[in-house]
Amino acid sequence: MPYLHTLDAIVSSTIAPAAPATDRDSAFPRAAITALGQAGLLGLISAKEVGGMGLGLAEAAQVVERIAKACPSTAMVVCMHYSATTVLEKFAGEQLRRDIAAGRHLSTLAWSDSGSRSHFWAPVGTARRDGDGIVVDGSKTMVTSAAEADSYVWSTGPVDGAGVSTLWLVDSKTAGLSEAKFFDGLGLRGNRSSPLTAGAVRLPASAMLGADGGAFDVMIGNVLPVFATLIASCSLGLMDASLEAACGHVGASKFEHLGSTLADLPTIRAYLARARIQADMVRTLRDDTVAALAAGRADAMLRVMQVKAAAAEAALEVTDTAMRVCGGAAFRKDVGIERYFRDARAASVMAPTSDVLYDFIGKAVCGMPVFG
Ligand SMILES: Cc1cc2nc3c(=O)[nH]c(=O)nc-3n(C[C@H](O)[C@H](O)[C@H](O)COP(=O)(O)OP(=O)(O)OC[C@H]3O[C@@H](n4cnc5c(N)ncnc54)[C@H](O)[C@@H]3O)c2cc1C
Repeated sequence: MPYLHTLDAIVSSTIAPAAPATDRDSAFPRAAITALGQAGLLGLISAKEVGGMGLGLAEAAQVVERIAKACPSTAMVVCMHYSATTVLEKFAGEQLRRDIAAGRHLSTLAWSDSGSRSHFWAPVGTARRDGDGIVVDGSKTMVTSAAEADSYVWSTGPVDGAGVSTLWLVDSKTAGLSEAKFFDGLGLRGNRSSPLTAGAVRLPASAMLGADGGAFDVMIGNVLPVFATLIASCSLGLMDASLEAACGHVGASKFEHLGSTLADLPTIRAYLARARIQADMVRTLRDDTVAALAAGRADAMLRVMQVKAAAAEAALEVTDTAMRVCGGAAFRKDVGIERYFRDARAASVMAPTSDVLYDFIGKAVCGMPVFG
């Protein structure tokens, strides 16, 4: 796997050293994104015919997981780029696909609408014809890589009324887009999330990605499997990192008067054992999700929904355990756990949120229509 050797080198030389400042200063990880682009890793899932690596979801999951161990913010930027690339590979023109493959173009999804909030599949923003072009209005609650990305895959309601939503390729410099706000967030502080509004943004009709009103099938059928698997991989990476840090700390923290360490306490070891089981169950579920999708198994979509919810919720519990077993020391940044604890919060509230997924999965297991 030469791409993994290259990735590991970029993680050691660029991503890990920048991770503390990325978090402290809410700094977009530009050096990491440039290095990943130059190494061809932003084109990992782009087709070989446009110069990409032509690899798939299994490999993308490995990339996101490894990056997340060092810097979950950088991993989320890459996760959203691969999710957007899934749409652009299907519908964008050749030159843009070549730019993505060559690492010259970063993209992201702008789906969560202020009006429909986390129900991203039903945007309330509008797109209307005006002469030979299209005029888009609407507002998005949070967009990863806002202003740092070269383009947004932007959702609106349909132009002609039929269907639920339509996707557009929007250049991030287009007139009428609001300026991104500084993201002083709780977690994933370097991912440069921001609300964005489109006020009479004028697009060529050719900016439509796929069919008018047909975005629901693309969102759920094409993008959700990629996004769910990759955000789960992000959760996996940060669970591993927090457990490694916690195990290191408890093994090294001595009670001098007793001649023992925190790891000598059976309660501490049991907490860590349960957390390790949770993380490894998620890895098994993630790998089975990738296998189900590759084989076109009947349970593939159920796995997709399960893996995002399972990974997000496990990450909340595992990072909470890592904090608990390290006691007050875990509050110190140098122990290396509190950042993962904060970063872990995002996945469960990124759409589809865990609660929405519980509703979908509950309907599926009760034999009810999931999206009815
Ligand atoms: C760091 C970060 C980065 C993000 N990046 C992007 C991005 O790049 N692109 C993008 O499009 N969006 C992005 N988002 C937005 C994200 O996908 C969600 O839309 C957003 O976090 C949901 O927040 P909200 O306040 O709109 O939730 P709400 O929709 O207001 O939900 C609030 C609560 O109600 C629950 N709830 C809502 N509906 C239901 C239901 N039907 N059944 C049960 N419970 C329900 C939710 O689970 C949640 O607990 C990002 C969010 C974060 C935090």
